[in-house]
Amino acid sequence: MSQLATFMQSFKKADENSPVTIFGPDFPFPYDDWITHTKGIGQLPTSAMGKEVAIVGAGMAGLVAAYELMKLGLKPVVYEASQMGGRLRSQSFEGGSGAIAELGGMRFPQSSTAFFHYVNLLGLERKAFPNPLCPATPSTVVDLEGNSHYAEKLEDLPPLFKEVADAWAQALEETTQFSDLQKALRKRDILGLKAIWNALVPLWDDRTFYDFIAQSSAFAKLSFRHREVFGQVGFGTGGWDSDFPNTMLEILRVVLTGCDENQHLIIGGVQQVPMQLWRHQPEKIQHWPKGSSLYSLHKGASKAGVAKLKRLSNGQIEVTDTWGSSHAYEAVLVTCQSWLLSTQIDCDESLFSQKIWMALDRTRYMQSSKTFVMVDRPFWQDKDPETGRDVMSMTLTDRLTRGTYLFDNGPDKPAVMCLSYAWMGDALKMLPQSPEKRVNLALSALKKIYPKVDIASHIVGDPITVSWEADPYFLGAFKGALPGHYRYNYRMYGHFKQDKIPASEKGIFLAGDDISWTPAWVEGAVQTSLNAVWGILTHFGGKCFDENLGPGDVYDELGPIALAD
Ligand SMILES: Cc1cc2nc3c(=O)[nH]c(=O)nc-3n(C[C@H](O)[C@H](O)[C@H](O)COP(=O)(O)OP(=O)(O)OC[C@H]3O[C@@H](n4cnc5c(N)ncnc54)[C@H](O)[C@@H]3O)c2cc1C
Repeated sequence: MSQLATFMQSFKKADENSPVTIFGPDFPFPYDDWITHTKGIGQLPTSAMGKEVAIVGAGMAGLVAAYELMKLGLKPVVYEASQMGGRLRSQSFEGGSGAIAELGGMRFPQSSTAFFHYVNLLGLERKAFPNPLCPATPSTVVDLEGNSHYAEKLEDLPPLFKEVADAWAQALEETTQFSDLQKALRKRDILGLKAIWNALVPLWDDRTFYDFIAQSSAFAKLSFRHREVFGQVGFGTGGWDSDFPNTMLEILRVVLTGCDENQHLIIGGVQQVPMQLWRHQPEKIQHWPKGSSLYSLHKGASKAGVAKLKRLSNGQIEVTDTWGSSHAYEAVLVTCQSWLLSTQIDCDESLFSQKIWMALDRTRYMQSSKTFVMVDRPFWQDKDPETGRDVMSMTLTDRLTRGTYLFDNGPDKPAVMCLSYAWMGDALKMLPQSPEKRVNLALSALKKIYPKVDIASHIVGDPITVSWEADPYFLGAFKGALPGHYRYNYRMYGHFKQDKIPASEKGIFLAGDDISWTPAWVEGAVQTSLNAVWGILTHFGGKCFDENLGPGDVYDELGPIALAD
């Protein structure tokens, strides 16, 4: 049997009733199986043990790679310019006894199996995220064009909403063979999945999400209002219209892999995941004494941010931090947003080909702003004496706030309101505003929906707000690929496999949200990080075990389809 055939039979069996996971579709590789295999993910030659690898960025991608490379026996040296955890950032309210604002990632789909491997390893707990119309959400209010609808389930909304939901399902089915695609994904039928997906790539890379909706026969027979409502409310987690200009391929990946459903929050804050990984002492570790952790290898502190990356005449890559201290490495992994290679870091142009530079610089980021307040208690559960309904609900609206999410920490305990979570144009409206102004704008929008509720009287302490696009260490919230960007993504994603690139470009690796096929979802950051681990293992002369092949071992056969340049 060929190595590929053995591989396809080796990972855990699944059938069409198995849960949806983020298994491809571009590169259907079982990362969850690879990292949990009893043999481990690979073996380095003795001569490479203890060698240093620079990791630029201590977000989830950087710390997962550092953790796995440490387990293999390398010595990761982590550089961080801002806060550890990156876009998994949980900020505590002053004096709020555990009340937190999740400023970046906050709801994690069940299908993120590699991410949840680390959550489980660290013993962290999760619970259902209070999304619109979900079982964890007592009630939802949809307020559009000045009309508010109160609902506990989709059927409570006027028929138009059900028509929109049905049209979306129908459009997916008739245009993409959605059920067959998802069946193949559940079964982990790699060839079946790729047969359908690879045919969709050239058809949909050039076209926007809006085009998909507007041209589908399901929506074409309905009114413009149906499209508009779909954009403003969406289904699952909130509005979709901020994504209307994105390539339809990106949206298809989200719905196909279940990113938009069955979402959880991490109790106590998601930043615990990267922070605890930093201190975690793996059971099985090579070269280093038992009890070692990233924390102990770094003697407690990561290095400062990276200011310069330069190829030396001996082939090594010199990393210079913001304080001018330089150190040479055989391998460097860059996990910060790719634009930072042009704005934050003085990076030797020769480290990447011009085709890769084109891809890195053409990457397009979406904007996002969030405004949180702490309140004295979950007052929204009080009942309106006239209607018997909750006085306030999770709220989706076409007003400035767009999405308002309510986080209950128990009766009579301080609770948290995400007054507004907005993207793109709606986030830009907030960009120049002070935190107080943002809160007041949100309160005034919500007053029009809930005229009888005095939200301000419940607020305690200072608000917490974020605009990721205003932060020089991010420049945007996450990637949102535009039509025609498939080729850029293909180049960046496949860069970890360096056997065919010139020696002058080897040894520098890329990972993270914007390298992934599923940006805005942490699972993509984790999966690209694991690709880079394979690349670095191979770079140091190591390899995976025959019974547990890694992503690069099967990439030539199963990797994403190439489109002609
Ligand atoms: C608003 C928002 C909402 C999101 N919602 C979700 C969600 O609900 N569910 C989900 O799964 N995902 C969500 N995501 C996506 C998820 O947060 C990201 O995919 C993930 O955190 C990215 O991890 P990363 O390691 O790739 O990048 P980052 O977390 O950005 O890590 C990169 C690190 O590099 C550092 N850095 C920058 N410049 C330098 C330098 N010069 N030297 C050294 N270090 C540097 C940065 O400070 C940062 O810490 C959301 C993201 C945002 C912003």
